Amino acid sequence: MKTASKNSPFANILAAWPEARLRELIARAGAGDVERALGRESLHPEDLAALLSPAAAPFLEDMAQAAHRLTRQHFGRTIGLYAPIYLSNICHSDCTYCGFALHSGGQGEKRTLTPAEIRNECAVLAGHGFQSVLLLTGEAPKAAPVSYLAQAVAIAREYFVSVAVEVYALDQEDYRLLVDRGLEGVTLYMETYHRETYAGVHRRGRKRDYDYRLEAMARASRAGVRKLSLGALLGLYHWWADGFWLGLHARHLQKECWQSAISLSFPRLRHAPERFQVQHLPTDRELVQLMLALRIFLPEVGFNLSTRESSQLRDRLIPLGVTMMSAGSSTRPGGYAHLNNDAALEQFEIEDGRSPAEVAAAIRRAGYDPVWKDFDRAFIK
Ligand code: SF4
Repeated sequence: MKTASKNSPFANILAAWPEARLRELIARAGAGDVERALGRESLHPEDLAALLSPAAAPFLEDMAQAAHRLTRQHFGRTIGLYAPIYLSNICHSDCTYCGFALHSGGQGEKRTLTPAEIRNECAVLAGHGFQSVLLLTGEAPKAAPVSYLAQAVAIAREYFVSVAVEVYALDQEDYRLLVDRGLEGVTLYMETYHRETYAGVHRRGRKRDYDYRLEAMARASRAGVRKLSLGALLGLYHWWADGFWLGLHARHLQKECWQSAISLSFPRLRHAPERFQVQHLPTDRELVQLMLALRIFLPEVGFNLSTRESSQLRDRLIPLGVTMMSAGSSTRPGGYAHLNNDAALEQFEIEDGRSPAEVAAAIRRAGYDPVWKDFDRAFIK
């Protein structure tokens, strides 16, 4: 990995944990290291490496029990529900793994919702009972400038208690503008922490700037964003490496951005455009190991699970650390109010197509309470 830039505290931490050091730790880890990690109250990065190593594979059941206990202790029996609203499918970046990208070959109509159309989407989701939404756009500051995002946040706040955005990385003053309109959360995945892979898959646009993206969450927190959700797109690089660096990032933000609640997502790159071969897709078992390891390393961090995963797997993951789930999702702009039914507009295919009510019922069957409002608010306050 490249030398850290001077003004980036987390880049300095990452530079202290290059892949070679991590590989060595993982290769050396044995059953004793895993047992030691499982016995500690507060884990060190070396413990996380042990839990991500092949030596932890025979301990998955013990890890599941520890993860279950810690999640109950910190989050009780509740699982929050949220829904994404895709505001625009226009994007000027060229991420080789994404169907929205400039050169991914998508033929569908490109569109950005008008304020009236945003209202329609909000009204449909509010009708289902949602009180938490995530507004998404591509990397398109011209089609969806910050002033447009601010307007969208203000509209969504008329319908929902909690509004978050998953948009391009912003400057601190831009995050501040959104906070002034009612923004509570920012979701921004680093995609991969591995610099060389990052440079190879992000071919154009502002997203090419690795360090600017890496520091976005700290800027958002300084601007007053109270919920920060981060993740790596699993499949771009080795799951254990990106999982380890993701864990370091979350822990760093817990300390540096103590006013904000941190959560993690685990998106797997299940579908990619023809031009991209997914070489590092974790198996279900590896995904479970990753989630358990991170839950034990970060007991106070929320875990989000999107509809990218199948209903069967999502139901099985509920007791292992999940605290928020999306439900009834559409990944096309205008998808809830049936503005169009063109599948070519979708960013990715949904695997869990159940309705919000069906997902809520599945959560209840697992012994948890689905929470439509944002239970994190009490925690943050
Ligand atoms: S991943 Fe995001 S930024 Fe990249 S092409 Fe897709 S929508 Fe654009």
